[in-house]
Amino acid sequence: MPRWDWLIVGAGFTGAVLAERIASQLDQSVLVIDRRGHIAGNAYDSPENGLLVHRYGPHIFHTNSERVWTYLSRFTTWRPYFHHVLGMVDGRHVPIPFNLNSILALFPPRMADRLCETLVDRFGFGQKVPILKLRAEADSELRFLADYVYANVFEGYTLKQWGMRPEDLAPSVTARVPVFVSRDDRYFQDRYQAMPRDGYTALFKRLLDHPRITVELNTEYKDAAPAVRHDRTVFTGPIDEFFDFAEGPLPYRSIRFERRREARTDGLPVGTVNYPNEFDFTRISDQRHLSGRPDAEPLLITEYPEPYTLGVNEPYYPIPSTATADLLNRYLTTAATLEGRVFFAGRLGDYAYYNMDQACARALALFEKRIAPLAAGGLAACQTERNLIAFSG
Ligand code: FAD
Ligand code: UDP
Repeated sequence: MPRWDWLIVGAGFTGAVLAERIASQLDQSVLVIDRRGHIAGNAYDSPENGLLVHRYGPHIFHTNSERVWTYLSRFTTWRPYFHHVLGMVDGRHVPIPFNLNSILALFPPRMADRLCETLVDRFGFGQKVPILKLRAEADSELRFLADYVYANVFEGYTLKQWGMRPEDLAPSVTARVPVFVSRDDRYFQDRYQAMPRDGYTALFKRLLDHPRITVELNTEYKDAAPAVRHDRTVFTGPIDEFFDFAEGPLPYRSIRFERRREARTDGLPVGTVNYPNEFDFTRISDQRHLSGRPDAEPLLITEYPEPYTLGVNEPYYPIPSTATADLLNRYLTTAATLEGRVFFAGRLGDYAYYNMDQACARALALFEKRIAPLAAGGLAACQTERNLIAFSG
């Protein structure tokens, strides 16, 4: 029976990047397992009628990190893609993040001009203002606008998405989609925004294509671990599950994705339409736009948020809030006692609301700071030094 230097649990961004680094830079053997029947984690996509369909909701790559961009660009070429989102507010489609164009679309012209001017005077053109910060403003016009945006864009959406009100979540959650004092309608303003030209799954195939890496799918950690001889583990699944919920379960939010092929309609005008106020779903995405094929037949995926139940659905979102901070800290403290033998990372392993680029950056940093230095002998130390230099730009 083979012996592996590393067992990596999870073939998503975190697991695949770490496998690639360990195999290519340390020349150590890695067994990557995933309980799903495919690689790429939540970023998984598959071809269907000329589209690349994102099975787990719209995944748009965006980053300001030159380092992450340069690293991933070794495994894919890119197709430029700027995501646009419209929100259904007062019966109209308006740009989300809510911006100056949204104001001009929703209010009578003179009132809209005054609101835009007040926003620009107070914060400056091009600034991003989290809704909870805008609500704390003293100026009566800004308070009016803040209450309007809160009620029409954030309150209903957040209640559906999380089963919680915006102020009961960590402020960073709603700050992801701030009021934008700008006329730039793009959902993100990052320096790099693109889709992998052949899709995410193809990118992952290249990441994992190394003679020192073996991938086993449909393999659950608890079943495989006792039978797999290995020295060290990277665990990218839910951290509470690893410890058999010894401190109690951490909360997660799940989603049910419902697909519809819409031969008879025009589909959506942009990648995603949000419905903060109507219906029990949050948003619909049209895979044509995500695939760069606006001329193709629409394929709509609707997201219905729902509570997470172990064994029933997937823990897609950790729920960042002060209420869960203590519980998470207890797991992190226990995890630290395993340092050197078991490493936790990723959206579920760290219990952190990472985007793909953040998961990738976290994996690269973990490799450089903790994993590479473990590698025995002078050669490994030299390689680590080289990596640090190579990545320091
Ligand atoms: P994952 O991709 O979740 O991978 C973890 C893997 O571990 C999974 O495949 C799982 O099956 C496996 N696993 C877990 N436990 C076990 C176990 N016990 N045994 C075996 N295998 C196990 N990010 C963006 O940057 N842009 C976006 O537009 C975007 N949109 C998103 C939309 C939705 C609906 C969701 C849910 C997420 C979105 N994200 C987006 C976030 C993105 O999905 C994550 O940042 C990324 O997938 C994190 O990678 P990961 O490897 O940490 O986790
Ligand atoms: N949000 C909202 N209304 C919107 C868009 C976002 O209330 O129209 C809030 C909501 O709480 C959501 C959070 O902002 O969960 C983050 O939105 P994002 O689009 O980043 O969520 P993700 O793509 O990660 O599901």
